[in-house]
Amino acid sequence: MKLQVALCMACLLLMGSAQDRATFQRGNDQRGRCQYTFTVSSPREASCPVSGGGPEMETLKARLALLEAHVSRLVGEGPGAGPGTGPRDAHAQAEHERAQLQREKERLDGTVQDLQARLADMKQEVERLRAQPCLEAFPQSAALQDGGRRAASGSGGASPLVSRPVVQSERGRVRDSAWSLGSPGYQELKAEVTQLPASQLTQEESEKDTGCGELVSVSQPVSHRKADSIAGKYGVWMQDPEAPPGGPYGPQMVWRIDTIGTDVRQLFGYEDMNQFSRGFPTKVLLLPDPMESTGAVLYHGSFYYQRCLSRTLVRYDLATETVAARRELPHAGFHGQYPYSWGGYTDIDLAVDEQGLWVIYSSNKAKGNIVVSQLDPKSLEVRRSWETSVRKAAVANAFMICGRLYTLASYAAPNTTINYSYDTATGQGKVIAVPFQNRHGYNSMVDYNPSHRKLYAWDNFHMISYGVRLGKLDAK
Ligand code: CA
Repeated sequence: MKLQVALCMACLLLMGSAQDRATFQRGNDQRGRCQYTFTVSSPREASCPVSGGGPEMETLKARLALLEAHVSRLVGEGPGAGPGTGPRDAHAQAEHERAQLQREKERLDGTVQDLQARLADMKQEVERLRAQPCLEAFPQSAALQDGGRRAASGSGGASPLVSRPVVQSERGRVRDSAWSLGSPGYQELKAEVTQLPASQLTQEESEKDTGCGELVSVSQPVSHRKADSIAGKYGVWMQDPEAPPGGPYGPQMVWRIDTIGTDVRQLFGYEDMNQFSRGFPTKVLLLPDPMESTGAVLYHGSFYYQRCLSRTLVRYDLATETVAARRELPHAGFHGQYPYSWGGYTDIDLAVDEQGLWVIYSSNKAKGNIVVSQLDPKSLEVRRSWETSVRKAAVANAFMICGRLYTLASYAAPNTTINYSYDTATGQGKVIAVPFQNRHGYNSMVDYNPSHRKLYAWDNFHMISYGVRLGKLDAK
């Protein structure tokens, strides 16, 4: 009896366990009729995973399909895209966009490089204009065309037209252009001339033009010659105020040197003003060193000039046609460091007056102000120096008369003034206003000739002179 009761209890327990795994489902069949399903798993079946579909599984599948469709739309796929293609296409799209951005970046980098290159070019151009080399291409034909003659080879013999042949190897020692034909614009830009107020010019002028005195007036310019080629836009022309007796060249000899060229070394000599005006040189000397600036002078049988690209002064003896002296001008700025307002590497400007040989320049110590030094004409040693309070870059040119320095206000203004004088005898400077005409608008050289008592100038192809009148000029 006890055994039968135990078996019944075991059956009931098993049934209860089976009922715990039973499920009741309700749903629609394919025809839409309500269908009830009661399922009781056997203990063995209950441990198996449910497989196959059912209404809930179908619902889950439908919802999953909807989610996939949403995901596909979100990643830009078409409605027909199959599962699994979205991420790949999104990745491809991202790669495509990255490639486009990379190309755009490369394009912008190229633009930046172009702009940087243009900026570098512009900076280089500015530097080139600021540091104009001293010389520019100087066609030999232009150099020797004066009077229609050409230089011939030969030595400094009796009277050859050219003392030394112009050999190619001697050319090109100077790299580049000084007053390049394209640079006048830059030089024009530098024409910041301070017009100082006019002082009162007294009428107590000396009626005599003999003897030294202060500069009272400057006449209108007289033109002697006009250069017939671009090489003659700037230059120096001069006569020796103290031509030595018995020398090969008399006091009437006129000398000229064009200062545009790759190798400014040709010094043309003319027998007199008439031949000079007609353009027939009788002598062409080839300087041993190329020159710079328009500040060269003739004095007592020697040609004095600044060697290109240096502060070296050269004394070239016309009789022996050799260098008689070379000497550095101590501390002098050169090659565009302290030029006159028109530029052109007019840093070192030699001058001659009744008292001898001078040089007008500036230095770092003088901070750009004009320094005047008197030179020993033989050795080129500095005898004594004076420092003025006038900035060299603020004036167009300068010259010496009777131991006084005079500065020209503008190289371009048609009606300008000699605006400052400095007396080396007293060490005093003062503002003056002596009218001065720049008839041709580009005066690149002004020097005084004490023998003829004239200012010699080179104004935009024109070789001109001005008479001067000396007397007493009251301080303002
Ligand atoms: Ca001068």
